[in-house]
Amino acid sequence: MTASAPALHTWCDWHAGPSETAVLIDVIEQGSGPGITRFACAPCREQRGLTPYADRR
Ligand SMILES: [Zn+2]
Repeated sequence: MTASAPALHTWCDWHAGPSETAVLIDVIEQGSGPGITRFACAPCREQRGLTPYADRR
């Protein structure tokens, strides 16, 4: 299940597709290797009431 997102679009993890409006929502730290990042587009953020990661700190 490796999703290769097109370079010009950010992948939205909520509707599982590329989006121009996707922003970072969540970073899941892992003990080893790179952390998992989750992005959501504007419509998905509105529907799920998601807060961008940058606005939370
Ligand atoms: Zn979306």
